[in-house]
Amino acid sequence: MNIILLGPPGAGKGTQAQRLQAEKGMVQLSTGDMLRAAVASGSELGKKAKDIMEKGELVPDSLMVGLIQDRIAQPDAAKGFILDGFPRTEAQAKALDEMLGKAGKKLDRVVEMEVDEKALTERIVGRFTCAKCGTGYHEKFKRPKVDGVCDVCGSKEFTRRKDDNAETMKTRMAAYRAQTEPLLPYYGARGVLRKVDGMAAMDEVYRQISGILSGA
Ligand code: AMP
Repeated sequence: MNIILLGPPGAGKGTQAQRLQAEKGMVQLSTGDMLRAAVASGSELGKKAKDIMEKGELVPDSLMVGLIQDRIAQPDAAKGFILDGFPRTEAQAKALDEMLGKAGKKLDRVVEMEVDEKALTERIVGRFTCAKCGTGYHEKFKRPKVDGVCDVCGSKEFTRRKDDNAETMKTRMAAYRAQTEPLLPYYGARGVLRKVDGMAAMDEVYRQISGILSGA
């Protein structure tokens, strides 16, 4: 099964995608993670994306489409993928349709994670990630079981995203509203869109998504 998780920054897309990957054997394709890896490696793509990401703006469609096209073509994506952070514009959505059509693949569901905008900044500024295995945590909502130690791999090193601050969040939200939100009617018209309550507890959100996938 191939799905998109759609929602504003801080909606919980990454958290849910990580769990779907761990429990359902699907692959998480996070364009944000791919770009952060490109920035860390100093590749050409990373150099182009770095400043744009730090400002909270969107990386040009041409770069994003190339990135995801290569990733979807890799063998592990054949077991089903979860798109987390892509598409973010109508041009990306159309390019996705085209690449899936050519590859003989289909999009089964688009899951909208509905959230109260007021809660998003609190979610964003409190989050941090294990530097070794990438597991996501939150100061208030998902602390490691032992303070300072990753539950999954035992590492004691954590990182925070440069763009996870209240100022950049304003630009990221504006980009979401102007460019990504219009994808909801785009997928709605096609009958693949389903909604979950992104304000519910993490386990409940996961239960709702699982229900949608088993009914697809
Ligand atoms: P995310 O981890 O999904 O919040 O993405 C972090 C940042 O990467 C975004 O604020 C954008 O600058 C960039 N980015 C990630 N995915 C895309 C995309 N599909 N289109 C354009 N920019 C993206």
